[in-house]
Amino acid sequence: MSIAERWDAIETRVAAACERSGRDRRDVTVIAVSKVHPVAAIEAAYGAGARLFGENYVQEWLGKAEHDSLMGLRELRWAFIGRLQRNKVRHLLGRVDCIETVDSERLAREISRRAAERGGGFAQSVLLQVNVAGEEGKGGFDPETLQNAIPGLFALPGLAIDGLMHIPPARPTAEESRRDHRDLAALRDRLRATTGQSLIELSMGMSGDFEVAIEEGATRVRVGTALFGARPV
Ligand SMILES: *Cc1c(COP(=O)(O)O)cnc(C)c1O
Repeated sequence: MSIAERWDAIETRVAAACERSGRDRRDVTVIAVSKVHPVAAIEAAYGAGARLFGENYVQEWLGKAEHDSLMGLRELRWAFIGRLQRNKVRHLLGRVDCIETVDSERLAREISRRAAERGGGFAQSVLLQVNVAGEEGKGGFDPETLQNAIPGLFALPGLAIDGLMHIPPARPTAEESRRDHRDLAALRDRLRATTGQSLIELSMGMSGDFEVAIEEGATRVRVGTALFGARPV
């Protein structure tokens, strides 16, 4: 199957999941996760209708963002979805739609500081990454810690906190990921109540489980393999 055919197949499945769960198709964005894939693959996905692309590595993304043929694609937007070191923040500010992987207070403060330095009321859109299952060695806020930290995070200038993101443990079946996604959605609801903020975005679900994630409230699903094929290693 070509990338265009795969994009259409994903769209059909996304629409069906929205239908099943009584959600508006317009409330779910498919992020085309293009890490490790070449510029030509991004062009093909863009041609098929993809607009938001997810990248994980700052250096690789810079090469793509500055590539002539991609700079010509007017509606192309980027989401940063990789682990981010504080010393790389400056490369991303204002150039990616959203930094989805804000996984610590220190990182949030660094983005805030640099964004505020720009002045002009600039705010970088971010999502807070949560380690819902408390996995050892995995990035993300512990839910308890986040409950306590969130009022302080919302007080930071230059940061537009639009919602939550997670990468749950790999499970044998998509159905088994349902409770992880449900947990993230429930945490979002609690944080909403604490802060009075809408936290509208829930970035959850990947190639193996995006339909279940949509049924549990995902507003953004991050799809790599199902669109671009297996990643070269
Ligand atoms: C690579 C990656 C994806 C895409 O995973 P697939 O299983 O290939 O769809 C999604 N989210 C994040 C954070 C990733 O790093």
